Amino acid sequence: MTDAAEASRRAPPWHAPLWGHFGQAIESDRVAHGLLVCGPPGVGKRRFAERIVAALLCCERLENGDACDQCATCRQRLADTHPDISRLVPEERGKLIKVDQVRAFSERLHLTPQYATGRIGWIEPAEDLSPSAANSLLKTLEEPPRDCHIVLVTDRVSALMATVRSRCQLWRVPPPDPETAASWLDAAGVDVADLDADSLRAPFGVIERASRDYASLVSAWDDDLANAIRGREDIALISERLAGQPRDLFMDWLYRRAGAMLAAALEAAQAGTDPAAGAPSRRDLPESLARIAIRLDPFVFQPWCARVADTARLARTNADWQLVIESLFLSLKNCLKRRRTS
Ligand SMILES: [Zn+2]
Repeated sequence: MTDAAEASRRAPPWHAPLWGHFGQAIESDRVAHGLLVCGPPGVGKRRFAERIVAALLCCERLENGDACDQCATCRQRLADTHPDISRLVPEERGKLIKVDQVRAFSERLHLTPQYATGRIGWIEPAEDLSPSAANSLLKTLEEPPRDCHIVLVTDRVSALMATVRSRCQLWRVPPPDPETAASWLDAAGVDVADLDADSLRAPFGVIERASRDYASLVSAWDDDLANAIRGREDIALISERLAGQPRDLFMDWLYRRAGAMLAAALEAAQAGTDPAAGAPSRRDLPESLARIAIRLDPFVFQPWCARVADTARLARTNADWQLVIESLFLSLKNCLKRRRTS
C-alpha cells in the first residue's frame, strides 16, 4: 500500500496534456491570479492543483514547468512548512466556509511574502464557500495582491457563484480512459480485476478506498497482536482469523511492527525506562504495542524478529499457514514470560 500512496503522488498519465498547457502558461507568464481546478471526483484534481502550487513556488523549475523538489522553497513546501501558503477550508467537515474566514484569509494574502515567488491561497472545497464568503472573496479575486495566486479546488464547478467562476482561469482535469487507469492502478499495487469502468474513471477514489481498507485491516491486526501477547484472547482463535488475511500484506505489516517494537525495546533498555512510567510516544507504533514493547527484553525479542523474517518466506509455500502463525505468536508470548521471570 505504500506503493499505492507513492504512485498517487506521481503524476498520473492522463494529466499530461493538461499539464502541457500549464507548462506553456507558466513559461510565458500567462498564469492567472485566480485558478479554478475542477473535474469529476477521483480524477486527481487535488494532485493537479498541488502540482500547480509547487510549480508557482519553485525557484528552479524544470523544463516542463514542474517544481524541482530540491530548492529551498520546494523543501519547505514538501516539509509542509512553507510560510507563503495560506489554506482556506471549512472549520468542520460538512460546514460552509464563513465570511470571517475569507476576511482573515485575504488579509494573510496581503502580507509580504517571505520568498520572491509570492503567496499562494488555497481554497478547498471551493463549492463550500457560503454566499457571503464568496462575495467577500470576489474583491480579492478582482484586485489580488501582487505575485499572489489563489487556487480553488472543486468537484462541482456549477455550484460555484458565476462571478467567482468568471474571475478564474479554469483547469478542468479529465477522467482517464479505463485502460490507462487500470495499468496505473496495477502499477500502484491495486487489484484491478473486479473494478468496473465507472470506478476506473475515478482512480484516485479507488486508491483512497484501498488505503482506507488497509488502515482498518492494520488496526484490527494491531488489536490481535496486543491481545495475543496479553493473553486476552486464545492464540489459536487469533491465528485462525489471521491465517485468512492477505498473507503478503500481513507479513509486511508484522515485519514493520516487529522492527518498531525492537527499536522501542532497545530505546527503553538504554534509557532505563521504568515500564510503570508508561510508553514513550512513538509515531510508528500504536500506543498499546508501544507499551508492550518497552517491557520486552531486546535480547530475547531480537531472535523473534528474525523469526518473523523467516516466516515471511513460508507465506508462499504449502505450509499450514494457520499453524505457522500460531507458533509465531506463541513464541512471542514466551519472550514476555522470560522477561517477567528474569
Ligand atoms: Zn524547486
